[in-house]
Amino acid sequence: MRGLFADIVGQEMAVSILTRALEQGAVHAYLFAGPPGVGKTSAALAFAAGLACEDKGCGTCSTCRRVQQGLHPDVEVIAPEGNFIRKEEITDINMHAAYRPFEARAKVYIFLEADNFNIESANAFLKTLEEPPAHVYFILVTDHPERLLPTIVSRCQVVAFSSVSLKAMAKDLRNRFGLAAEEADLTARAAGGNLSYARELATSESARRQRELLLDLARDLPAASLMATQSAVDEVMATVARLADERVESLGAELQQALEWAGDARTRSWLTKRHEEKLRRQQRRLTTQGLNAVTRIYAGWYRDLAAVSVGAEGAVLNQDRVRELNDRALPGGLVGYMQAVLAVRQTQERLRYNVDAKCAITDMFRTIKEALTQWPMS
Ligand SMILES: [Zn+2]
Repeated sequence: MRGLFADIVGQEMAVSILTRALEQGAVHAYLFAGPPGVGKTSAALAFAAGLACEDKGCGTCSTCRRVQQGLHPDVEVIAPEGNFIRKEEITDINMHAAYRPFEARAKVYIFLEADNFNIESANAFLKTLEEPPAHVYFILVTDHPERLLPTIVSRCQVVAFSSVSLKAMAKDLRNRFGLAAEEADLTARAAGGNLSYARELATSESARRQRELLLDLARDLPAASLMATQSAVDEVMATVARLADERVESLGAELQQALEWAGDARTRSWLTKRHEEKLRRQQRRLTTQGLNAVTRIYAGWYRDLAAVSVGAEGAVLNQDRVRELNDRALPGGLVGYMQAVLAVRQTQERLRYNVDAKCAITDMFRTIKEALTQWPMS
């Protein structure tokens, strides 16, 4: 059983609830709630594997492995198409849920970003949630449980995921990737509590390069000319596109692996078709994820400037940049830095809706520049 949740770090409570549910019988709907990047989606896939596996989640059989890769016909992962989970999608699920599973002992539907139901899709979903077929399980995953309709929440067992401590994250990076102690600490901090991002930084040269580039841009923004600001917007947009491309590439690699496991031609063609559909539907989501990565780094930089401006160097996330932060942080600049962080947060919020991303980033830069030039520069 441990094996199934081996990738989940620092979530003892959630893992024990889920392990017990697999042993003693699960309810039909779960809501996995907690901060971003702490392992909710991996846990959802692991739990789904446990529900589908003949052996209650051995972690090693073909069912367990394929579910955890997101490539099992009885486990469906639904992410919002555009900004919302569409009603058509729910109608489709309602219809298919009634059929027996293809091969596993259960059918599992995992909703990522489950706070993105709109009223129509939520109402359609409630019907199934009230009387789910015996072989069907739902796992709703969200960073924002407060945005879900109470009628949905009340029908789910809530499994709370907590922030992962820097210590636990650093330990994971040391054990998993063999990072040296100091590097593991730096990486855990730089990721600001987001374990998925920390693992990405630890393993991907391109993620590290992107972080450096974006931190440089954030650093230079207050003094940048209009033209330099415009070209920074272009660079950010190019970075977002690159992140999306990389994700598409890694999804392609996952497909290749799945195809190697797939025995017959029918399964292969099913997998290929499903992969294409997934890519088509995820285009916007990939862009959103890229923009989230960008804004997270910007928020982190100005947050660090705020910390240094009040002498709280120890609280800095980007410890490898402490010198630059010290060179730039203005005593008395706290309000401006907090306004810059706020501008980033508001941009993150705007980007949830169908706004033009380039416009939103341009506005964000302008607001940050305004916030940081209101203050007397010495
Ligand atoms: Zn198994």
